[in-house]
Amino acid sequence: MGARTPYLTARLQGFTTTIFAEMSALAAATGSVNLGQGFPDTDGPSAMLEAAAEAMRRGHNQYPPGPGVPVLREAVAAHQRDHYGLGVDPEDGVLVTSGATEAIAACLLALCDVGDEVVAFEPTYDSYAACTSLAGAHLRVVTLHAPDWAFDPEELEAAITPRTRLVLLNTPHNPTGKVFDQQELASIAGACIEHDLLAVTDEVYEHLVFDGVHRPLAGLPGMAERTITVSSAGKTFSLTGWKVGWACGPAPLVAAVRAAKQFLTFSTAAPLQHAVAFGLQRCGEEVARAAGELAARRDQLCDGLEAIGLRTFRPDATYFATTDIASLGEQDAVRFCLELPKRCGVVAVPSSVFYQHPEAGRTFVRWAFCKRPEVLAEAVERLQGLL
Ligand code: PMP
Ligand code: GLN
Repeated sequence: MGARTPYLTARLQGFTTTIFAEMSALAAATGSVNLGQGFPDTDGPSAMLEAAAEAMRRGHNQYPPGPGVPVLREAVAAHQRDHYGLGVDPEDGVLVTSGATEAIAACLLALCDVGDEVVAFEPTYDSYAACTSLAGAHLRVVTLHAPDWAFDPEELEAAITPRTRLVLLNTPHNPTGKVFDQQELASIAGACIEHDLLAVTDEVYEHLVFDGVHRPLAGLPGMAERTITVSSAGKTFSLTGWKVGWACGPAPLVAAVRAAKQFLTFSTAAPLQHAVAFGLQRCGEEVARAAGELAARRDQLCDGLEAIGLRTFRPDATYFATTDIASLGEQDAVRFCLELPKRCGVVAVPSSVFYQHPEAGRTFVRWAFCKRPEVLAEAVERLQGLL
């Protein structure tokens, strides 16, 4: 029997697992350098690993409170205050989740009714279309246009209908690496306020910004009361396998998201919550250092991609650079990425799968640079085989 939610299977574009899992499996099967799925090949702060082990030894091994352990909720509230001047109540304004993935799913399930519409910017991170579909809602997209991934505010206006419930904004943005600027955020905030929409923002790359400044949408006038801000420890601390995230915002919205979360996972890994609280309180310097190193990796990879003739859009943030393979005479990113391991032993992700309008992204390929310099050097050397 087929899946009950046609959109879910359609989003997999003929693959049986997500594009990231598919590409990691392809890399493993072919011995390729994996610049596909976005995960670093170096673990985050060793003091956090020790804090996790210590939390286990101290007996934090049974179900923690559903909303999250108090020390982490307080650390998240302090983080929002110290970095962005946002007032968040650690008691009822923070919900700890199993990664940003669960936070996004719970937000959509909690805040959308069947038939509602969600507006997002394409290319969209893969879980947005799937989770919108799980919630029985419909995704309407506004296209970000290369080279600077700008959008037309009129297209945003046109995407909003009487059924629109919320705007789902990802900044810094995966896969493009765009950081939405103040003017763009003001235009999105203006639309939310004029049409009385909620906003859910996915800010998992908030600390991996190289150029420009990350600003939470919740900080704009009139937005705090209608915005749920989502983030995660995975990217900030180079610990993507921990899957500890959070959603924060006004108490009534967080209460609705909490109601959904309790039937998804109920609660999130107890010892890791303690270690993430430690990280938020104590590991700011390591985070800043890692972001600086990542900027150098971005340049290393982008220089290498440009040198082989790929039109490269150098990102301001995140783990990812996008190229347009049309500059190599290629027409189809999915086919290119499926053939790449055979052609030269490298794996990348076809960004075309993140588009509702496939023609808009047919020749875009995403490359992860969150890897050791020698791994990037090896990938670039192999890619020279394309010439
Ligand atoms: N949103 C975006 C934009 C991402 O790139 C990712 C992948 N890390 C997630 C959400 C999921 O984050 P997590 O691993 O914390 O679930
Ligand atoms: N966020 C990661 C990426 O964009 C993938 C996470 C996952 O595999 N779900 O590559």
